[in-house]
Amino acid sequence: FLPPKLFLETVEQAPVAISITDSTARILYVNSAFERLSGYLRDEVIGQNESVLSSKSTPISVYQDLWETIKDKRVWHGTLVNHRKSREEYLAELIISPVFSANGQIAYYLGMHRDITEMH
Ligand code: FAD
Repeated sequence: FLPPKLFLETVEQAPVAISITDSTARILYVNSAFERLSGYLRDEVIGQNESVLSSKSTPISVYQDLWETIKDKRVWHGTLVNHRKSREEYLAELIISPVFSANGQIAYYLGMHRDITEMH
């Protein structure tokens, strides 16, 4: 048995930006690394769509591939051009995975990303 406190402490201190959304990408939770990377405080992004991070320079075909994959209950890996609250762009390496409810429907999405700007 793993207590919720253990999960929370660990996720809060994880070195990757973690977010949990509903099935429409509306943000329900972000961890501390997400706040640091994006420049947004959690209260500013909770309730908003993840597209708040979109710099609009990612080709639409990338988003189409992302949505087709995750709606098909598969894990999507890819790179998006994001921007911080300050509007500074960064290259985000992302993993998005569906989280299922007991009846097998998509309940949430888990997003994990890191800044790979320096690597390019
Ligand atoms: P839009 O015009 O809204 O979308 C572009 C295209 O994406 C549409 O034409 C459509 O083909 C597809 N699309 C968008 N929403 C849906 C939907 N609900 N169902 C089916 N197809 C859809 N985006 C980022 O830019 N950066 C991120 O870091 C990021 N993280 C995400 C994390 C999670 C967990 C999830 C679920 C999504 C994430 N997204 C992220 C995707 C984000 O929700 C938006 O879809 C994306 O930013 C495009 O939004 P837009 O307003 O620029 O364009």
